[in-house]
Amino acid sequence: MKGADEPRAGDVATSGPETLSFAARLEAVQERIAAAFSRRERDIEGPPPRLIAVSKRQPVQAIEAAHVLGQVDFGENYAQEFRDKLAHRPDDDPLRWHFIGQLQRNKIKYVAGKALIHTVDRPALLEELHRRVDREGLVQEFLVEVNSGEAQKGGVGETELGALLDRVPEYSSLRCVGLMTMAPALAAEDTRPYFRRLRNLRDAESRRIRRGVELRELSMGMSADFEVAVEEGATFVRVGSAIFGERPT
Ligand SMILES: *Cc1c(COP(=O)(O)O)cnc(C)c1O
Repeated sequence: MKGADEPRAGDVATSGPETLSFAARLEAVQERIAAAFSRRERDIEGPPPRLIAVSKRQPVQAIEAAHVLGQVDFGENYAQEFRDKLAHRPDDDPLRWHFIGQLQRNKIKYVAGKALIHTVDRPALLEELHRRVDREGLVQEFLVEVNSGEAQKGGVGETELGALLDRVPEYSSLRCVGLMTMAPALAAEDTRPYFRRLRNLRDAESRRIRRGVELRELSMGMSADFEVAVEEGATFVRVGSAIFGERPT
């Protein structure tokens, strides 16, 4: 357990002179998503994006506070932290969990069957996921993370994407539902080519019929660039600091 200086829900994003209250920040993000969606070109198909509140390193009280305000989708990055947070949740948890962190094979057990995974990027993860969920009779939905050109980040290279998707039909418990990427940290407008690229990759790969692969989701956009991502067709945006404020370190 953490000590008395653990941040509490009421502390979230309420410090700083110009900072809006937590509820106002959540609402402002939702309004910016809706406005960006209304700017989306008509030929870019897809439903209105869903907001994933990225709650990594935020206390469980912050998650509950956001839930009370109507937020349902939450994203976590660290497998053990995710496991510990789930332990606080009721069995019939109304929240939808997304795992968006880099995935290690030996930590898949904390995540398999418990979240929509956005970060599958190699065949070994397919195999381990299948092994974990199949014996429980579960189906695991996931997205494939595509690398946007930065070696230190995860994700399959564009040229290997097709080969990875080709492996999915080997595993009866797995369903690939989309693609995810992280744009480099650039000025928002400069991220557009990366999001457009992911959409084009999705459109190209969707022409190939593979059992267990239906690429309906595009997970792209974070606090700094989610409006551009929505304009380019995001169906999930992953927003942390614009909702919760700076993360506790
Ligand atoms: C932390 C993180 C986010 C959210 O980042 P913010 O800049 O706080 O919005 C989104 N996606 C991934 C993969 C992350 O690791």
